[in-house]
Amino acid sequence: MLIELDQIEQIALQSLESIQDEASLENWRVANLGRSSPLMQIFDQLGKLSKEERPVIGRRANELKRALESAFSTRSEALRQSALQHSLQSERLDITLPGRALSMGRLHPATISVREVVRAFADMGFQVYRSPEAETDEYNFGLLNMPPHHPARDMYDTFYTNMPNVSLRPHTSPGQIHVMRQYAPEPIRAILPGMCYRYEQISSRHETQFNQIEVLVVGENITLGDLKGTLGDLAHRLFGQKFRTRFRASYFPFTEPSAEFDFECLLCSGKGCSVCAWTGWLEIGGCGMVHPVVLQNGGYNPEKFSGFAAGLGTERIMMLKHRIEDIRNFWANDMRFLEQF
Ligand SMILES: [Zn+2]
Repeated sequence: MLIELDQIEQIALQSLESIQDEASLENWRVANLGRSSPLMQIFDQLGKLSKEERPVIGRRANELKRALESAFSTRSEALRQSALQHSLQSERLDITLPGRALSMGRLHPATISVREVVRAFADMGFQVYRSPEAETDEYNFGLLNMPPHHPARDMYDTFYTNMPNVSLRPHTSPGQIHVMRQYAPEPIRAILPGMCYRYEQISSRHETQFNQIEVLVVGENITLGDLKGTLGDLAHRLFGQKFRTRFRASYFPFTEPSAEFDFECLLCSGKGCSVCAWTGWLEIGGCGMVHPVVLQNGGYNPEKFSGFAAGLGTERIMMLKHRIEDIRNFWANDMRFLEQF
């Protein structure tokens, strides 16, 4: 059996010499030190040996096992070193090549526009207030003077959710109620920016999602003059002193009187184009004096308090500013469009 062990050693060490890669080395380990290797079979037979033989063979077998293990790790380390040398030689880094620049992310044009309008209002002393994008029917319509049967609901084609009575807000106006209920009876000068959702026929001017900025001022002696002055001032801050705006009489259930607020179309300089529907003007939003019923729902006494509100579409403002001809560009995720801002 001692001769057998000598043979095992000789064969094992010889075959180890010629191994050049990790896979063969692993095969060698299994063949020579694995469970069914000749050496392990000798360990299995130790029990059958006589008392005199057992310690002699056992010692020799253990020595051989250690010898093979140490030869294995030496070879393994040698292979690792030579692989490293090889990769250092073949993959030498050419530091004379310039690196590839990482492309920098930037703000989405819709976000830029919201921030520009928010900044203009902040300069006028308004505070920013956030309100939820999904609201109950009561907040979306009911508290804004539109009970369930109200025909004005037809103007808002709403996305409903799986939760009964909860829909995505079709306008930022439900936020008016949240602000008023939080601050009544203190005066309010707030804007509420955020995304709105409507089931619209998509066109160059209409999208199913859009940013709106709600403007709400409540206090004593707030007049239509304050409304016109504030929105006119906003237009001048965004587009310069000579920029023209106009108000058209309109109807909203939550304001009385109500108006639509137009900016002159800069795309065609007022001559008429597809973006302004050949009118020379682009509707930026609706506005008006807060309806007494809405004031009351917000917790204010309409005998004592008055207020104005407006909802402005910021993508429309961005379209004017950068002569963007199609609102669909904002959500098309086309890098050629987005990279221009
Ligand atoms: Zn135009």
